[in-house]
Amino acid sequence: MKRILITGAAGFLGSHLSDRFIKEGYEVIGMDNLITGDMDNIAHLLPLEHFSFHHHDVSNYVHIAGDLDYILHFASPASPIDYLKMPIQTLKVGSLGTHNLLGLAKAKGARILIASTSEVYGDPLVNPQPEEYWGNVNPIGPRGVYDEAKRFQEAMTMAYHTYHSVEIRIARIFNTYGPRMRVNDGRALPTFFSQAIESKDITVYGDGSQTRAFCYVDDLVEGIYRLLHSDYSLPVNIGNPDEITILQAAQEVIEIVEGTTSKIIQQELPKDDPKVRRPDITKAQNILDWFPTVDRHDGFRRTYEYFKTKFGG
Ligand code: UDP
Repeated sequence: MKRILITGAAGFLGSHLSDRFIKEGYEVIGMDNLITGDMDNIAHLLPLEHFSFHHHDVSNYVHIAGDLDYILHFASPASPIDYLKMPIQTLKVGSLGTHNLLGLAKAKGARILIASTSEVYGDPLVNPQPEEYWGNVNPIGPRGVYDEAKRFQEAMTMAYHTYHSVEIRIARIFNTYGPRMRVNDGRALPTFFSQAIESKDITVYGDGSQTRAFCYVDDLVEGIYRLLHSDYSLPVNIGNPDEITILQAAQEVIEIVEGTTSKIIQQELPKDDPKVRRPDITKAQNILDWFPTVDRHDGFRRTYEYFKTKFGG
């Protein structure tokens, strides 16, 4: 039986990945410091023989007894409001946390996949973004703590590959959504669903003309699973190229939520908010034979069903 360590296991992506690897017959060791994760996301896994949970902050030395085949490093605050509230932790988990996990991978001879991000492209000057694009990041802006930690993470991971022959995989993850996002996560879709369910104003920042391309979580998990098992060491974009404006996303949420009387209001656009974002997924298609299959309307509906349960529906 293969053993895999998943950091950020109680979070949105980490918990879905834990489910997938359990289903595939792996022994899963979940790790989380629970600053943004939620034990509810993995409560169903705790009784299982092949799942264990360690409450630990990976920015401190990480000890795992026994063999380890794989590491998925998914621990990090991931919402702009979280990294504004926790800038130092965000910097530390992407840098010190990554260093600890690369050291662990080296010691155990494990393959490590790190969760990088479309934020390495910053406010991009090319659209869509291919992996070859170096990005347009403001290091000292509010997003710098996340963006630069993730860029450092990629550099450190590549260095361990080059100098220590550690087997690495780098996923550049674009906006992903679905069940288990937090109601107060602050990102666009969970915020819009929560607001619409409670018939509160829908807060669109700026004029809503900025774009994002939203990937349903099941597609993301499939992409990560394939990337881990591939033999490709350079970064791969994982996301859905279905690009829409934020205003359109808000309107579609209102259409889906039954009985809502929410209206869209405009609020100030946060500093350095990327104007466009869309993955070029040619590499993922060619190397992993992967393409997202969940269409936006279906994904939005499934997400709505989840958020309804969070409001007693
Ligand atoms: N956004 C918004 N209203 C909200 C939350 C976010 O209009 O209540 C906008 C935000 O300014 C950005 C886009 O939606 O342009 C996506 O934001 P999110 O926080 O989901 O993540 P990002 O893609 O910026 O990292």
